[in-house]
Parts: sequence; structure tokens; C-alpha cells
Amino acid sequence: MTKAPGFASDATERICADIVIVGGGLVGGSLALGLARHGVKTTLVDRLAPSQGIGPDFDGRASAISASGQKLLDAIGLWPHLAARAEPILDIRVSDGPSLLFLHYDHRDLGEGPLGYMVENRHLREAIAAEITAQPALIDVIAPVAVSGLTQTADSATVQFKDGGEIDAKLVIAAEGKNSSLREAAGVNVTGWSYPQTAIVATIGHATSHQGIAHERFLPAGPFAILPLYGGHRSSLVWTEAAGRAADYLALPDDRFVAEINERVGGFLGELSLIGPRLSYPLGLQFASGYVKARLVLIGDSAHAIHPIAGQGLNLGLRDVAALIEILVDNAQLGLDPAHPTGLDRFERWRRADNLLMGGVTDILNRVFSNDIAPIRIARDMGLGIVNRIPPLKLFFMRHAMGTVGDLPKLMRGVGL
Ligand SMILES: Cc1cc2nc3c(=O)[nH]c(=O)nc-3n(C[C@H](O)[C@H](O)[C@H](O)COP(=O)(O)OP(=O)(O)OC[C@H]3O[C@@H](n4cnc5c(N)ncnc54)[C@H](O)[C@@H]3O)c2cc1C
Repeated sequence: MTKAPGFASDATERICADIVIVGGGLVGGSLALGLARHGVKTTLVDRLAPSQGIGPDFDGRASAISASGQKLLDAIGLWPHLAARAEPILDIRVSDGPSLLFLHYDHRDLGEGPLGYMVENRHLREAIAAEITAQPALIDVIAPVAVSGLTQTADSATVQFKDGGEIDAKLVIAAEGKNSSLREAAGVNVTGWSYPQTAIVATIGHATSHQGIAHERFLPAGPFAILPLYGGHRSSLVWTEAAGRAADYLALPDDRFVAEINERVGGFLGELSLIGPRLSYPLGLQFASGYVKARLVLIGDSAHAIHPIAGQGLNLGLRDVAALIEILVDNAQLGLDPAHPTGLDRFERWRRADNLLMGGVTDILNRVFSNDIAPIRIARDMGLGIVNRIPPLKLFFMRHAMGTVGDLPKLMRGVGL
């Protein structure tokens, strides 16, 4: 085990903490930082050392961060690290394969700034690692240490490390991603299914500028997204392919892989080149049956993992983070136990409906658009055309994409705690 900056203790000792966050990824790392900003101390445990997540080969994805997500990143000190490398999303164009009908979201229709920002995940991880290092008094990092179990009594929860050692806490937060060991240890069930699809992720260079436009094309195997990255001449691709065919595409030599991309992009970006590695992600939908069990709370993909068709998985996780910061800071100011049931029940009620709704919408969109059945294709093209022509309907969907509707936590509305 390496001693990370702000390192708490050796894993073989028994450690006590008020709040333990397991999983220092995009969601867990953001939560630790947000709490630290408000004087609440946490211990952050991850099976990876902070330096391990920042290479281009580690993740390869870029995330569409909604306008409200950007406000949270700003409030917790990450945005100054990201602003110069984030690409504002000015327009979104959704088209159905070769159909001429498309849906066009233009940020000028709302007059509220960009629809969101494209941020490379490695830059987000780098920013989180830098800010955590700057908070040694408020964030203790235990890494790399994998967590394997959890036991709970009325007064405390104990997290067990895979290679020995334990940590006692008043509140344990699982932010371990979709294969959460704590969720399993606590016996929280998950409902969901795998999609017969794999997301192929790659970064491309192109001769023509993307002009801040995000494109999503619905092809029979699934959505093909071309997402603008900082600099004008790079884009992040999320190419959803039938699971059985993805491995063949991933194994193609570079020139043939680029030719396949070219065929799907359609030439409007000029000559294409491949930058960096190709990675793949199996896709699925998964909901935990509950987000709170005694002194354990689930957030981010540990609580809900959804299809990336609308680029909303991380945005939901950030909403969990902002809601939980608000509740835990309230508890701290009132001198309450961080696992006080009133606050945790509020968290569950606050976040569950929003997460279920978005998961359901992405599931329906994926089913309706990822096929080539003529009557469905005609109906969905009419649907796109109708939404595009009715301004109030279009604005309604735009505000959803920007994450500015619903019961937003204060930090996502630009309001201080
Ligand atoms: C192809 C694709 C594209 C996407 N694009 C977007 C997008 O544009 N916009 C958007 O909002 N969302 C997007 N998403 C969703 C988004 O990537 C996820 O929702 C987000 O990464 C979840 O973050 P997390 O921190 O909850 O989990 P993770 O990123 O999985 O992090 C989990 C952390 O926990 C640690 N960990 C795991 N198990 C243990 C253990 N047992 N002990 C200790 N540590 C552990 C891991 O090392 C890791 O650091 C996309 C997803 C995919 C697949």
C-alpha cells in the first residue's frame, strides 16, 4: 500500500472515522471535496492509488457535464482546474441514421450559456487528485486498498479491507461504481439487465472544426455520438455496437477502424485520425432496491447505472453528491450523527425518483432508437420532427439535458450552503 497525500493510517491498524467514503472515483472524490469545502472531514478509501486513474489509457471517456453539474464542480473547487480544457456544448444535433429529419438544440434558444461542457474523464480525475492533495486536514486517503466487507451495529459500521485491517465509522458511503462490494455485503438487491450492446470509446482528430456541436446519430445497433473536445479538432466517440460485433471492430488495424468511423460520421468533419487507445464498456441498466441501509448510503453508479445514450450517468451521480453534501453539512452544523435517519431518509426520497425516471427514459430511448424496424423508424422520425417544431416542447427537453429542472440541490443552483 502506498501512502497517498493525506494518508490516514496503515491498513493493518484499526482506524476510526466519522464518515468513510469507499470509492474515490468521479462521484466519491467529488463528495469528499464538497464536504471538505464545508469543513466536514472524511476518510476516502480506493483500491487504486490517486495517480493510477489519470493516464489516457485508463478510461478514455469524456463526459458531457450538464450546466447544473458544472455549477457543482465550480462550488467544490474543481472547475478552475477544468475550465481551460472543457469544451462548451453549443448545439446538439440528433438524427436518425440517414434520415433528413433531425432534432436541433441550439443554446441561443435559451440564452443561458452553453448546454453543458465536454470534459475528459482523465482531466476530472487529475483535478480531483490535485484538490484532495490540497486538503490533508479534511480528507484522509487510504489507497490502494480494496474493500471487501461491511458489518453494522446500532452505533457504528465497520468496513473490512480485503488484505486485512478495518475501519469503524458512523456513516459509510459506497461510491464504488456499479459492482459495489458494500452493496453486496449489506444485502441490498439490484434490479436491472444487460443490453446486447457494447460502447466502443475512442478519441478522433479531424481536419474540420466541430464548432462546439455534439452529434448523436441513431444507427440500428445503437447511438453513435460525436462529442466535441477542447481545441476544435478533436472529438470523443461513443459508438454503441452489437455486443457480438464490438470485439471485431476493436481488433481492426487503425486504418480500417478509422474507415469504419468515417462511414458512420459521414465526412462532415474532414479527414479523421485516431488519437490514443480504443476502449470498450459493456452496457446495462441497474438500480439498487434502496439507497440507505442503516449506516450505509449508496451513491453514483453503486446506486444506479444507466445507458450512456443521453450522457446522464455521471450527472445523476453529481446530483446525489450535491444532495448528500447539503444533508451532511446540515447534520454537522446541528451536531447530529451523520447517519441520522431523518437526513438519510430525505436523501433517499430526494434522489430516488429522479434517478429512476432518467434510467427509465434512457431505457425507452435505447429500445425505440436502436433498431431498424420500419414502423418504429417512421414513428420516431415523426416524434423527432414534432419536438423540433414545437418550441415549448423543445425547450422542455433542452432544460432536462442541461439538468436545470426538478428539485435541484443548492450547490447546483449556484446557492451557497
Ligand atoms: C461509454 C460511456 C460513456 C458515458 N458518458 C457519460 C457522459 O457523457 N455524461 C455522464 O454524465 N455520464 C456518462 N457516463 C456514465 C459515467 O461514466 C458513470 O456514471 C460514472 O463514471 C460513475 O462514477 P462513479 O464514481 O459512481 O463510479 P466509478 O467511476 O466506477 O468509480 C468507482 C471508484 O471506486 C473504486 N472501487 C471500486 N470497488 C472498490 C472496492 N471494492 N474497494 C475500494 N475501491 C473500490 C474504483 O477504483 C473507482 O475509483 C458514461 C458511461 C459510459 C459507459
